[in-house]
Amino acid sequence: MRSAETAKRAWEKFKALSKEVSVASSSPVVSPTLNGSVRGRLFVSHNEKTGLSVNVGMVGSCRPTRECSRYCYGLWGPASFPLAVRRYAENLNCFALLARAPIAELEFEADVLAARTVFLGQDFIRWNGVGDLVPGAVRLISVFASRHPGIQVWVSTRKPELAARIEQHESVHLMLSSDRSTKPVDLVAMRALIKARSPYAFLAYTQLGPDDVPPPDVSIVFLEHCGSKRAGWEPDPRACAATISMELASSRAHANACADCRRCFDVKARRAGRRR
Ligand code: SF4
Repeated sequence: MRSAETAKRAWEKFKALSKEVSVASSSPVVSPTLNGSVRGRLFVSHNEKTGLSVNVGMVGSCRPTRECSRYCYGLWGPASFPLAVRRYAENLNCFALLARAPIAELEFEADVLAARTVFLGQDFIRWNGVGDLVPGAVRLISVFASRHPGIQVWVSTRKPELAARIEQHESVHLMLSSDRSTKPVDLVAMRALIKARSPYAFLAYTQLGPDDVPPPDVSIVFLEHCGSKRAGWEPDPRACAATISMELASSRAHANACADCRRCFDVKARRAGRRR
């Protein structure tokens, strides 16, 4: 784990970069397109583990726990490079526009996002690989899910109050992210939402050491890791295999890990608790 001082420096760097992107303007941010004829505002990221991901600027969306500011991968590596930080901040601006936009604009953005997902051969999309929910994203996810029920939406969040405002659909999977420093009041709200939305909402937990015992109602445990450097302790049976030390037989490489495993966005896979 990095020191608190190092984490603080990284966070300050983030704040400075994010300030360079102005707050919501009326000129849309245009993302790369399928063939040049279909244009959307959102920038969609891709990585070899989780596939497509809609990310937003951490400054302006995240409500970090005391611990997550020290282990969050958004502060380090490719997700922290200036170009990525700017794009995530631009997505945040886009969501500020979508929070007030007419429904037709949301439908258009949802259709472009769905087309790009299908074009890349995925039947799921991850939300908040970096960053957290904001009101414009809540609106877009709801519209997306109602128009494209065949594409699973995997929403990672620490904000149960905003997640509860996403329309209920069988394709929307709310992953409430916690760690040992999540405030009790947030945990209560997360569990209430999970109860109301089960089995389409579940608790995830980042484990920060072998003595850090995940609560029994956690569905998925992420072992603390930093890029390719993974935790070396004996994994919890609920652990994400792509976070387990590569020296252990139960681990797996990042390539296509989520497409193969599906526990975070497939009820059957989650119930089976399987690792692949
Ligand atoms: S548990 Fe499975 S779907 Fe979830 S992050 Fe890990 S590999 Fe991906």
